[in-house]
Amino acid sequence: MKRSAPNQHFAAARRAVVALVLMILGVAGWQWLLAHPQHNPWAPLDLRDPPGWATDAKLGMLKDDVAVCRAVLTRSEVAFTTLPATGEGACARTDRTRLGDYPLAPDTPAVTCPVAAALEIWRHKSVIPAARKILGGEVVRIEHLGAFSCRRMYGGAEGPWSEHATANAIDIAGFVLKDGRRISVLKDWTDSGAKTEFLRAVRAGACDSFATVLSPDYNAAHADHFHLDQDMRWSRVCR
Ligand SMILES: [Zn+2]
Repeated sequence: MKRSAPNQHFAAARRAVVALVLMILGVAGWQWLLAHPQHNPWAPLDLRDPPGWATDAKLGMLKDDVAVCRAVLTRSEVAFTTLPATGEGACARTDRTRLGDYPLAPDTPAVTCPVAAALEIWRHKSVIPAARKILGGEVVRIEHLGAFSCRRMYGGAEGPWSEHATANAIDIAGFVLKDGRRISVLKDWTDSGAKTEFLRAVRAGACDSFATVLSPDYNAAHADHFHLDQDMRWSRVCR
């Protein structure tokens, strides 16, 4: 009988050790992903999770499927109602989702579900903590200038339709705290105090969940509001 050379035994043992190490790393990696769903592309999105590597891609996918998006709201225990489809052509709205417990003023408009999801993340991950940390207060109202408007960009007679044409956008003008303080995009953006610091923090925070964020830094048309939308067609804008 022919005996195998000692170095063949070593090679076999080395392969076994490498395979074992890879297996342990694989199991450890999977365990880590299970414990960190925000980084796990296979974990269902929960808006209460901290933002992670996979959050952006998952938010992007919500645009393609209203049912999946609404399932995310339900899973995340976000109160909402749905309204029947309305409109036609470029202003047809098949996804009208209205948040049930959101401090929007003067009313809570129906928006697309991806905008509703992004608003929810923004409020909890950015607006509430920034108000507490920078202003020492609680936000009781978020003032807006509207979500739906059947028009093209900048109200032109031609050119691309605005994301507002399907309420896939909302314009935020200010914030009111429980103690009555009011923070206005128009009045407080260029100051240098705590209100300005707060506005800049929540503008940056909006960029974590919205595809497009346009502030007074973008152009004069946005001097009095933040335009937040979930258009995924273009590269992201955060300015
Ligand atoms: Zn807008």
